[in-house]
Amino acid sequence: MNAPQTAPQTERHGVFIGNRMEDPASGAYLPVVAPAEGVAFAEVAAGNADDVDRAVKAGRHALEAGAWGRMAAFERGRLLTRLGIAIADHAEELALIEARDTGKPMKQARADMVATARYFEFYGGAADKVHGETIPFLPGHFVSTERVPHGVTGHVIPWNYPAQMFGRTVAPALAMGNACIVKPAEDACLTPLRLAELAAEAGFPEGAIAVVPGLGEHAGSALSSHPDIDFISFTGSPEVGTLIQTAAAKNHIGCTLELGGKSPHILFADADLETAVGVIASTMVQNAGQTCSAGSRVLVERAIYDRVVEALASRFSALTAGTPDMDLDLGPVINATQKNRIEGFLQRADSAGVPVLARGRIADGVPAEGFFVAPAIFGPVPRDSELAMQEVFGPVLSVLSFDDEGDAVRLANGTSYGLMAAVWSLDGNRALRVARAIKAGQVYINAFGAGGGIELPFGGMKKSGHGREKGFAALHDMSTLRTVIHKHL
Ligand code: NAD
Repeated sequence: MNAPQTAPQTERHGVFIGNRMEDPASGAYLPVVAPAEGVAFAEVAAGNADDVDRAVKAGRHALEAGAWGRMAAFERGRLLTRLGIAIADHAEELALIEARDTGKPMKQARADMVATARYFEFYGGAADKVHGETIPFLPGHFVSTERVPHGVTGHVIPWNYPAQMFGRTVAPALAMGNACIVKPAEDACLTPLRLAELAAEAGFPEGAIAVVPGLGEHAGSALSSHPDIDFISFTGSPEVGTLIQTAAAKNHIGCTLELGGKSPHILFADADLETAVGVIASTMVQNAGQTCSAGSRVLVERAIYDRVVEALASRFSALTAGTPDMDLDLGPVINATQKNRIEGFLQRADSAGVPVLARGRIADGVPAEGFFVAPAIFGPVPRDSELAMQEVFGPVLSVLSFDDEGDAVRLANGTSYGLMAAVWSLDGNRALRVARAIKAGQVYINAFGAGGGIELPFGGMKKSGHGREKGFAALHDMSTLRTVIHKHL
C-alpha cells in the first residue's frame, strides 16, 4: 500500500520552466488563500513577461532542437499515458492540494483527479491515431494531408477546476506535439504546478510543458500577446476572452474561447421528474455553482410548474455548504470578490421582488472568514431579468415556466450564451426535435453532466465561445493541416 499522502502546509511555489521550479524574474510572490479559511497558507510566483519569454523560448527550443520535436506520435502517447497513471497514483495528494486551494469538498476534488487522469489516458491512446487523407487530383499527382502541431501553444485557464482544465487543454495539445505554456488563474495555481512536476518525472522532455503563474494583466497578457506563440486556448470570462481574441488577431494566430453559459434544463410535463429534479439540484451546486456548464435555468411546462418547484425547493432547503473535509454538498466560493458578486445578484433579485423558493444553509462551525454562500432557488423568475439572462457563477438556480414546445425553444435560445442544455421528456421524437433546435454545443436528453465526459466534444455556440475541447475534436483544434502535392517526375 502507498504511504498516506498529505497536503503540504506552508510553502513557496515558483514558475515551472525547462522541467525545473524556479524563482520568478521579479522575485515577487502572491499569497495563496484557502477559500474555506479566508487566510493565506502559501505563496505563488508573480510571473511576468520575462518568465513568459523564457518559457516560450524553452518551448521553441524543445520543438526545433530538443527531443520533443523529434518524438514519434506513439512515444508522445506513451508519455501521456504514463502521466495519467502518475496522476492516479498521486490522486489523494493532488485532491488535498486542490481542495485547500479552491475550497471544494474532498469528494469533488477526488472526482476531479479521476477526470484529470482520464484526459491523459484518453489522449495518450489517441496520439498515434490521427490520420490524414489522400485526395484525388490531376493525373500524375499524389496529394496527401497530415495534421501537424501548431507549435508553441498558450493555455490561459480559470480557477474553478484547475487540475481538470490543465488536463482538458494540455493533454490534446501535447498529444499533437505542441509545446504548452500554461498560465493558471492567480486563485488556483497549485495543482497545475504539481501536474507539471509529475509530467517531468514521467519523462516529458524539457520545454514540452511550462507553467507560469501570475496576474492576468501581467503573465496572462504577456502570454496571449507574445509574438512567438502559435495558438492560444482560453477558458474564463467573456471580458478577458475579448482581450485574448484581440491579442490573437494582432498576432495573426488562432484561438479557442470557452466563455461560460446560462445552460437551460427544459422539463416537459411527461418528464421523469424524480430523476430530473435530483440531477438538476446536485449538478447546480457542484463546485458551488462555479461551473461554466452549470444548468442554471430550469424551464418548466406550465402544467407541472408547481410540482417541480415544490420538489426543487425541498432539495435546495436540504443543501449544506461546508469546508472541504466536512465533504458536504458544496464548499465556499473561490474568493471575496466572487462571494460579493453572487450576493449582489441575490440582493438585487430580492429588491426586485423575485420570489425566493428556498435557501440551503451553511454548516455550523465553518470559519467565519471563509467565502461561503448558502444555495438559493428563485421562481418564477421574470424572463428578461438578470437572473434569467446572466451567468451568476454561484449556487443560484432560476426557474421559469413555458407554454408549449415553441415557447420552450425560444426561451432556451433566448440568452446570448449557447454552451449546454438538457431536454427532459419521455416522448423520444419531441426530445430529439427540441434538442436539435437548441443552439448549444452539447445537448443532453434525460440526463445532464456539467462538463460531460472526456470523449464528448465540448464548447460553445453564440457568445459561449468557439472551438472544441474534449474528444477527437480537440485534436483537430490543437493542430493544423499540411497538404503535400507531389507531382510524379
Ligand atoms: P477571468 O476571465 O478574469 O480569468 C480567467 C483567466 O484569465 C485567469 O488565468 C486570469 O489570470 C486570466 N486573465 C485575466 N486577465 C487577463 C488578461 N488581461 N490577459 C490575459 N489573461 C488574463 O475570470 P475571473 O475573474 O477569474 O472570473 C470572473 C468571471 O468569469 C466569473 O464570475 C465567471 O462568470 C467567469 N468565469 C468563467 C469560467 C468558465 O469556465 N467559463 C471560469 C472562471 C470564471
